Amino acid sequence: MGLPRFEYYAPDNIEEVCRILKERAPDVRVMAGGTDLLIKMKKKTVRPSVIIGLKRVPGLNEITFKQKQGLKIGATALLSDVAGNSVIKRRYPAISTAASNTGTVQIRNMGTVAGNLCNASPSADNAPTLIAYGAKVFLKSLNEEREVLLEDFFTGPGETVMRDDEVMTHLLVPSPEPHTGCSYQAISRRSKVDISAVIVSAYIKVNKDKCQEARIVLGAVAPTPIRSKGAERCLIGKRLTERLIERASERAMKDARPITDMRATKEYRRQMVGVLSKRAIYEACRMAGFKF
Ligand SMILES: Cc1cc2nc3c(=O)[nH]c(=O)nc-3n(C[C@H](O)[C@H](O)[C@H](O)COP(=O)(O)OP(=O)(O)OC[C@H]3O[C@@H](n4cnc5c(N)ncnc54)[C@H](O)[C@@H]3O)c2cc1C
Repeated sequence: MGLPRFEYYAPDNIEEVCRILKERAPDVRVMAGGTDLLIKMKKKTVRPSVIIGLKRVPGLNEITFKQKQGLKIGATALLSDVAGNSVIKRRYPAISTAASNTGTVQIRNMGTVAGNLCNASPSADNAPTLIAYGAKVFLKSLNEEREVLLEDFFTGPGETVMRDDEVMTHLLVPSPEPHTGCSYQAISRRSKVDISAVIVSAYIKVNKDKCQEARIVLGAVAPTPIRSKGAERCLIGKRLTERLIERASERAMKDARPITDMRATKEYRRQMVGVLSKRAIYEACRMAGFKF
């Protein structure tokens, strides 16, 4: 299975990336690590005649944190850089865990978090946690720059709101507020190096003994990552008890829209949404400082 022929450009500035995109859209793709793109090209499910490599664009691989702005992850920051970054480990541990659960060492040393999002697989490991933290993505074309809340970015399997002439430059994750916690939970057929069959991320803000804020995000159980509004409504404003978390997890199971495929049956997926939601909510509450 060889690669089809294509023209390759590796510009050293983002304006040039945008210019080529504008001139050659829709027959063009940008490439970060290529761990998804090149496989699709070999399988001929994607057939661009032009590829634009992003890795020579300076600054695009940066990871920075400022209290006011939050965490900035550049488009070519590697999964391994995100997984191992000490600030991310300390301030956003669930982002680090999700990145370190993506693929193999080799994949993490080539692939990027931005590529994982742009690829828009329903089972993308990094999407639910970033949505739970309230991340935004930044999309640039020749004449425009816009930001999109990550939860509004995905429109279907392999589809997003990004136009053919746009490139994602970076994502921004707000600084976590005091008394908050966020957990990433995933399950797959094999315990390691496997695409997740179910993912749940929970972001919880605790106020004394109550849940003040909740974002419960499900992955691999719908055409896109989705928020379980039922679980969130169940939690917000209520006293945190084992019974409440049980009920919220049951609501999450109702909000899931799983299918049966080679990774799991829809019945198993729905059950696992319940199990992982419970784990995620408990862990997020504990991280927020709540004692059961
Ligand atoms: C063996 C193997 C195991 C894997 N395991 C996992 C796993 O456990 N979990 C998981 O979620 N994924 C997994 N993947 C999928 C893949 O590795 C990840 O999705 C990875 O993060 C993709 O990043 P990349 O930089 O290689 O993307 P690329 O392949 O470069 O790009 C992917 C898509 O996004 C577009 N794109 C990339 N960057 C941008 C940008 N900045 N702006 C606009 N469009 C862009 C490309 O045009 C392409 O359509 C696996 C893949 C392989 C081959």
